[in-house]
Amino acid sequence: MSIPRFWREIRQRYKGIGVECGNCGRVFFPPRSICPDCRRESLGKMNEREIVGKGKVITYTEVHEPMPDFRMQAPYTMVMVEMDEGVRMTGQLVDFEPEKVGYGMEVEAVLRKLGEESPSGIIYYGYKFRPCP
Ligand SMILES: [Zn+2]
Repeated sequence: MSIPRFWREIRQRYKGIGVECGNCGRVFFPPRSICPDCRRESLGKMNEREIVGKGKVITYTEVHEPMPDFRMQAPYTMVMVEMDEGVRMTGQLVDFEPEKVGYGMEVEAVLRKLGEESPSGIIYYGYKFRPCP
């Protein structure tokens, strides 16, 4: 994988950048190069769109084994969220009271530090979810 492509994918994955079909307006995350509905009509019309809004929890799970990429403290809670844009995103839930987690809970995406500082001095930031106030 080339370096520029690597960085582009990191940016999309961690900053919640999707694409919007310029033909029908559907939003996709992760980004795709062509709209499955419009196909040829959408060629060259897929525009980057940052997804930072609100959504509702459609499924959640408590994770006891931390993922190797993220040195998160286990246990932590991962949620799948249906965003107002109509796309589904998965992320860690933060700043919540465990007894209030449930399906349909309204959450918003927030920018948080994701990972440890690497040997090159880079700190990774990305989105997490927290309950709407
Ligand atoms: Zn489309």
